[in-house]
Amino acid sequence: MSFLVQLSYFVAAVLFIFGLKAMSSPVTARKGIMWAGVGMILATVVTFFHPKIEGVGNLTLIIIAIAIGGGFAWYTAKKVQMTEMPQMVAVYNGLGGGSAGAIAAVTLSQAQRAVSTDMVEQAEIKAEETGLTFEQALRVLDGTHVGAYMGADVAILALLGAVIGSMAFSGSMVAWAKLDGRLNRSKLVEGHQWVNIALAVVTVLLGIWAFYTGSGWPIFLFFAAALAFGVFITVPIGGADMPVVISLFNALTGLAVGFKGYVLGNFALIIAGTVVGAAGMLLTLLMAKAMNRSLVNVLFSGFGTAAAGAGEATEGEMKELGAPDAAYMMGYAEKVVIVPGYGLAVAQAQHKLWEMVELLEGQGVEVKFAIHPVAGRMPGHMNVLLAEAGVPYDKIFDMDEINEEFSSTDVALIIGANDVVNPAAREDKSSPIYGMPILNVDYAENVLVVKRGRGAGFSGVENQLFFNENTRMVFGDAQKVVSEMVQTVKSM
Ligand code: NDP
Repeated sequence: MSFLVQLSYFVAAVLFIFGLKAMSSPVTARKGIMWAGVGMILATVVTFFHPKIEGVGNLTLIIIAIAIGGGFAWYTAKKVQMTEMPQMVAVYNGLGGGSAGAIAAVTLSQAQRAVSTDMVEQAEIKAEETGLTFEQALRVLDGTHVGAYMGADVAILALLGAVIGSMAFSGSMVAWAKLDGRLNRSKLVEGHQWVNIALAVVTVLLGIWAFYTGSGWPIFLFFAAALAFGVFITVPIGGADMPVVISLFNALTGLAVGFKGYVLGNFALIIAGTVVGAAGMLLTLLMAKAMNRSLVNVLFSGFGTAAAGAGEATEGEMKELGAPDAAYMMGYAEKVVIVPGYGLAVAQAQHKLWEMVELLEGQGVEVKFAIHPVAGRMPGHMNVLLAEAGVPYDKIFDMDEINEEFSSTDVALIIGANDVVNPAAREDKSSPIYGMPILNVDYAENVLVVKRGRGAGFSGVENQLFFNENTRMVFGDAQKVVSEMVQTVKSM
């Protein structure tokens, strides 16, 4: 049986790896998710035949928990709006970290029981042998730590997994609240770096205390500190930096699960956790690079927050243009570059947009899509959206590929994007988003911006682009505006 269990874990691990590989291209992503899902089901079912972990044998309770959790996840995933996907990913990712933390709590408290019962026996024997009192013998044996019963390496990994998992859990919950608009995206507490450093030191000290005493209170306080650390480190991080942080928590959850796999001796967990941790870390570094920031800077500087700098006041006036006139402008252009953003996802206007692009191309206009690495609210958000509408991949260009082309573009059409085209990031040193690379749409001959009102983007920073001489604002919901544009292009 044990051989079959290990073999199934191996098959599950292979499915995870190939699934992840397939997810790296939009063409094969769906297949990749299916493979990884089958791997996950296999690993879960097979775990029921795994030799029981001491004290974890209540199958009825486990099945009820799986039914409640699985049912809830099924229901919410079916019901969730596309624009709420990032929040859902943040919550479920956080729960993964939380589970790893909870397993660590159980493992550590079991080891603690082993320490205490065993130590009583040892102290009794020592007292008898040496003539010491029971209390004196106990004190002599006091050097015993949880590692003596689990193996020091396992105990240390359990503690590391616990701290990382707990941080990922509480941090992801804060990220969820920010993405969902329930928490101010730019909350900067005075002296927050010192609070974070103090919390990090306290967490490490409590971890050492828990390791040596193995008693209930240190373990409890250790978890409380790790959870608080996750909250305090995430709250001050500004809107523009959230993609990096979300991706980092994803990686941390993977790492915590990998550590738990080592503690529980479960290969499927080790491989799945390590793969997620490594892939998440690479994505985090790529996102940080795309934002022109180092990870340390993201976590400790409060970039993109209101308190990081107010930014220069905007100059000029917004100039409005109706959707039909904007459509004529594009219809008579030679080259149009479209920049999609979060608002396109909100309006679900991708299908209409693609219809308009096909009509424009029919009229001989060259049309391209430009994607900023952090456009939308999830890594790859815009690519998924455009792929869903059937836009061919050879029309979609990354920021580095297309930025040079804006100066030879007749019309740049911005649909529901804001921060990713804000020239303040390039020009205004006092701006909270200064330094973030942007799509240089302002170099185009004409700029059209489709949005509903005059509000700022996710980072809360005003956009000078909207006031520029060559910019026209086409106010309205993207779905409605693009539908009007389609009608006009059809009539041309
Ligand atoms: P922004 O959030 O900066 O701007 C979106 C714009 O869309 C708003 O200005 C809004 O203006 C407009 N909008 C909203 N709804 C509609 C609608 N129905 N029709 C038309 N317009 C609409 O989006 P960007 O994509 O430019 O930038 C992404 C931001 O999100 C960055 O700051 C990034 O750091 C952050 N982020 C990205 C993540 C990622 O992984 N990609 C994760 C977390 C955060 P109005 O209300 O006036 O319509």
